[in-house]
Amino acid sequence: MCDELEHAGHCGGSGRRNFLKASSVATALGLVGGGLFTGSARADALTQAQRERMTPEQIIGAMKQGNERFRKGERKDRNYLREQKASAKGQYPAAVLLTCIDSRAPAEVIMDLGIGDVFNCRVAGNIENEDILGSMEFACKVAGAKVVVVMGHTACGAIKGAIDNAQLGNLTGLLAKIKPAVQATSYTGERSAKNYSFVDAVARKNVEMTVANIRKNSPVLLELETNGALKITGAMYDLETGGVEFFS
Ligand SMILES: [Zn+2]
Repeated sequence: MCDELEHAGHCGGSGRRNFLKASSVATALGLVGGGLFTGSARADALTQAQRERMTPEQIIGAMKQGNERFRKGERKDRNYLREQKASAKGQYPAAVLLTCIDSRAPAEVIMDLGIGDVFNCRVAGNIENEDILGSMEFACKVAGAKVVVVMGHTACGAIKGAIDNAQLGNLTGLLAKIKPAVQATSYTGERSAKNYSFVDAVARKNVEMTVANIRKNSPVLLELETNGALKITGAMYDLETGGVEFFS
């Protein structure tokens, strides 16, 4: 923790004084923080002490606020170089995300997150497997993250592929992991990949089932959640509105 603050101090000189002047203005506007989570005027990476002070609910609240800034075209006046230097010797991310590879759904951008704020596992269709669970167990049990978020999104190509029974090399096996969600989605209209309303209903069901699978297949994460040290939840990102809806 001290390392981060020391590192930040090495940015001295007039650049730093100018930064401090600018930051006091930005602080007044509520746009500046250390990582995404604090009201501090420093734009350094999240520290261990800052993370320890936060509950899982507060961490999710901070991600929601970041998404609100994104939707308004605002973002924290962060300094990536300061975040990079502050986090080089240690990281204290508050959450681990499981999100799709879709180029239009980068979690760090749409929730205004900085370097060191979160772990992000990305795989088409945001499904879990042993490697993803291993990554999450490292993130939470070893590195101390307090929140797991599985985030799907609208108009997801992987979901469409699963609905259409697309076949292609290794993709076939990946889509097979989404198909249970296609079957489990109750929907009265046209059940095709051309019907975006159905596609989005399957994407939501896929998130719910992935959250359930994480609890079922990772006793490590389930125990953390049962003890109150971790919150596991789902979310959906809407490509049209830019909004992230958390399930809980
Ligand atoms: Zn997708």
